[in-house]
Amino acid sequence: MGSDMRSQKGRDASDQEQFLTILSREDAVARFEAALFPRAIATEDRPLAQALGLPLAGDIVAEIDVPPFDRSNVDGFAVRSADLAAASEATPVRLVLNDEVIACGTAPARPVLTGTATSIATGGPLPRGADAIVMVEFTQPAGAKAIAIRRAASPGQFVSYAGSDIARGEAVLRAGTVIGSREIGMCAASGIAKLSVVRPPRVAVISTGDELVQPGQPLRPAAIYDTNGAIVSAAINENGGEAKFFGAIADDEAELEAAMRRALESSDMLVLSGGTSKGAGDVSHRIISRLGKPGIIAHGVALKPGKPLCLAVCDGKPVVILPGFPTSAMFTFHDMIVPVLRRMAGLPPRTDAKVVATVPVRIVSELGRTEFVMVSLVEGAGGLIAYPSGKGSGAITSFAQADGFLKIDALADQMPAGSEAEVTLFTPHVRVPDLVIVGSHCTGLDLVTAPLARAGLVVRSIAVGSLGGLAAAKRGECDFAPIHLFDEKSETYNTPFLGEGLELVPGWRRMQGIVFRSGDARFEGLSAQAAVRAALADPACIMVNRNQGAGTRILIDRLLGEARPDGYWNQPRSHNAVAAAIAQARADWGMTIAPVARASGLGFIPLAEEHYDFALVTARKQRPAVQAFLEALGSDEGRAALEQAGFRPA
Ligand code: AMP
Ligand code: MG
Repeated sequence: MGSDMRSQKGRDASDQEQFLTILSREDAVARFEAALFPRAIATEDRPLAQALGLPLAGDIVAEIDVPPFDRSNVDGFAVRSADLAAASEATPVRLVLNDEVIACGTAPARPVLTGTATSIATGGPLPRGADAIVMVEFTQPAGAKAIAIRRAASPGQFVSYAGSDIARGEAVLRAGTVIGSREIGMCAASGIAKLSVVRPPRVAVISTGDELVQPGQPLRPAAIYDTNGAIVSAAINENGGEAKFFGAIADDEAELEAAMRRALESSDMLVLSGGTSKGAGDVSHRIISRLGKPGIIAHGVALKPGKPLCLAVCDGKPVVILPGFPTSAMFTFHDMIVPVLRRMAGLPPRTDAKVVATVPVRIVSELGRTEFVMVSLVEGAGGLIAYPSGKGSGAITSFAQADGFLKIDALADQMPAGSEAEVTLFTPHVRVPDLVIVGSHCTGLDLVTAPLARAGLVVRSIAVGSLGGLAAAKRGECDFAPIHLFDEKSETYNTPFLGEGLELVPGWRRMQGIVFRSGDARFEGLSAQAAVRAALADPACIMVNRNQGAGTRILIDRLLGEARPDGYWNQPRSHNAVAAAIAQARADWGMTIAPVARASGLGFIPLAEEHYDFALVTARKQRPAVQAFLEALGSDEGRAALEQAGFRPA
């Protein structure tokens, strides 16, 4: 049992026992499905064009023959095959043309009598008496109103008989068939304009949280944009449901209960997100127990991410509370909710494409929880390689940029480096990138790779830090590793860190310096050294540091010497986090790079240039995408774009 589940115990003595029990993924699915199925499926009639993507409610039986008459497949002449039995190159047969041309849509008026032929177009109905068509290419004019034919014709030649495509009374489509363009074509050919289909389940979506603001609205302090409302709605629509978004509701029990009741009234299913873990304002699961029987089926599932998932059934309707973090919400939604939603929608289970790939690094996993790990795929020497995209459960970009995910069994505490793993793809096909960049990320990278993307090359950049990038490059898993590693012994950047098989491609310089809020009199106009002295002299002044191992950290430590001012232990891992801490006044000074300081509107005192270069895997140098990158890096356009953003191209 997880500590967050246990802590709910004291909160409400009337909480059901099942709130305290974490179920395995399999048990939770089994209980949820048992409470929901079998169930009646609602159907509706829809015009053909609006039935696309929906499953048929019943069999479709053809009421007419298709084609409805015997039809010519070619342009030519309708004949009696017996007339041509003796036709050959040496003994052509002459047929007199009937005074009629059968175009498409023309019903024939005259019979084809022995010794005659009627001109007929592709799609024209076969006239009475005729039993074969001779292609126009195999005939010659023979005087006025006659043709000569030099080969025999078999009965039925180039004729499609009535009902040969679809026979009246035939079941053309079976119940459950998902209507695609081909099925629509069959129905149209049979004259069917309306279909009885499974009505898509109406799914109400509610986001919960005082902190949520809808995209498009200004972001207030401490607020975040509501991601789940949009992503959950889209995922519902992708899986056969009809999402209706009821907005983000504050963590207020009465307000939320009213919203949930309103949403459930007009829907077949309700999906909430947030408010299901141990937070003080988490009230939604208490409301659920008042909404209908049997109520909560599972609260707490041994999934990672996604433990606080809550599954309920209220008077026959599924009610689900997804975890708040968008990636956790999506994994639990896809793994636990999509199968139920698709079944309600009459759709078959998803058949996601899977590939096998090697995992290059060890992935630790929590024992007892089924763990999903997002991965990016790159092509290695011996096949596909799956890089875990580790940004934590709060990161939405890892979800959007990953190629798929792998699953670590609840009974495993790790996946060893070198393991072969099955990767479930987010898209039907693997897009193996043309250029793979693994290492430290910099916004300048996007500027340099822009022309490659325009040329249709797929560039994959995986941020694992300088050292992680170097390790990947040494294993030959990428083309370039962007690095900015300072060697204290030689006081130089990057070159001392290259190993065999790698060469340095100079990138650009990033000016590092002290950042502070513009106008702060303690720092304005000083040198970096003087600014730090001023900061140390003011006990109210708070700094923001950087993580151990960051090149920037070395510079900070040099400036600080033995001093450990307030804020020293606040050690974020990125230039942007430092700027945000100062801009939002959680700290007063720190060190970041000039472009980031500028983008945040902060004051900046330059100190030293950091070298951001590329370790190139020599064996991959001749690849076209590598050459394209080198060209873009050295181009006037690339250099100008870098300068414009505040970098100094090397
Ligand atoms: P909760 O489960 O409500 O405690 O939320 C857990 C985390 O997910 C918090 O950081 C929330 O701010 C975040 N979160 C909750 N709902 C959303 C949402 N709709 N969009 C983005 N983040 C969310
Ligand atoms: Mg919340």
